[in-house]
Amino acid sequence: MWFNQSGSLHVAYSNEEWIVLNELFAQFEKEGRPIRLLTPHQISAKYPLVKQHNLLGGLYSNDEMIVDPRIAVARVSDYLATVAGVQFLWNHTVQEVGVGYVKSGNKIIEADKIFICSGQEIETLFPETFSALPMVKCKLQMMRLHSPNNLPVGTSVCGGLSLLHYSSFKNAPSLKLLHKKVFSEMPEYIKYGIHVMISQHELGEITLGDSHEYGFTFDPFDDHYINKLIITYLHGFMQASDWVINATWNGVYPKMTDGSSWYFNQVLQDIYVLNGLGGAGMTLSFGVAEKLIVPIC
Ligand SMILES: Cc1cc2nc3c(=O)[nH]c(=O)nc-3n(C[C@H](O)[C@H](O)[C@H](O)COP(=O)(O)OP(=O)(O)OC[C@H]3O[C@@H](n4cnc5c(N)ncnc54)[C@H](O)[C@@H]3O)c2cc1C
Repeated sequence: MWFNQSGSLHVAYSNEEWIVLNELFAQFEKEGRPIRLLTPHQISAKYPLVKQHNLLGGLYSNDEMIVDPRIAVARVSDYLATVAGVQFLWNHTVQEVGVGYVKSGNKIIEADKIFICSGQEIETLFPETFSALPMVKCKLQMMRLHSPNNLPVGTSVCGGLSLLHYSSFKNAPSLKLLHKKVFSEMPEYIKYGIHVMISQHELGEITLGDSHEYGFTFDPFDDHYINKLIITYLHGFMQASDWVINATWNGVYPKMTDGSSWYFNQVLQDIYVLNGLGGAGMTLSFGVAEKLIVPIC
């Protein structure tokens, strides 16, 4: 499967963002993370598509890699089927789960252990368990763009709003000041939970996200106004004037509201529910499976 061990770059265009990046650098360096602060000159030399105007610097992390999720989702299941002998029963909706069995249509499948990982479809299996949880759904809007010149971006790039979004940044003492600034200057971005980041896959297309709206029912449409806010912010840090939108879409995931990173519990004998990984489920899933499921099996 194609991947790019490209790391990631957070860029700063205001003093508040730059101070937060410096605080995070001090914190993550102590933890032994492979990170570096870059000057505007170093950024322009390596990532010429990052805008130089008002750029104060960036925080580069070597840890991250890019995959194309549309390909990865299919390849991971092919891999598990081939290498680990996992049997996938596609197109089987599970209507009922009881101790020792799973029922889909007329088919009853016996099982020693059952793990229910139903994503956002929390209304069908064990709905009372879910309705009692501190959990909400989140709708995200995203876009795919292409650049006619097909120039390489070189890394995943995040603008300053991402510093407000991810809880791994929450210990930066000056984050409050940055939040205050964004809230007073760009309240619409806070309202729609927008932070802006891009990654480029092997064919040169750029994935751009995203917004975050919380609730239990959402209209199915992509709100053009929200996408325009995302695009406007993108132009603040990337040379993207010739980038063209190829696709827009939205997706929904369930997220815990009490600060926990997931919900995992035995709901009946040998029946477990694992859900609520929020916006980090693609990244966390392999580690979570190893940590929670391997010891039980
Ligand atoms: C737009 C968007 C962008 C995201 N970006 C990122 C990102 O950049 N990085 C990251 O780490 N994470 C990201 N995520 C989050 C990540 O996709 C989720 O955390 C992850 O998919 C959760 O995995 P899951 O297996 O719990 O649920 P899901 O991936 O939702 O899978 C649940 C599956 O169970 C099926 N199902 C439900 N009920 C039944 C039933 N009764 N019978 C049979 N099948 C059933 C569903 O159809 C679905 O296929 C993003 C999510 C969205 C929506």
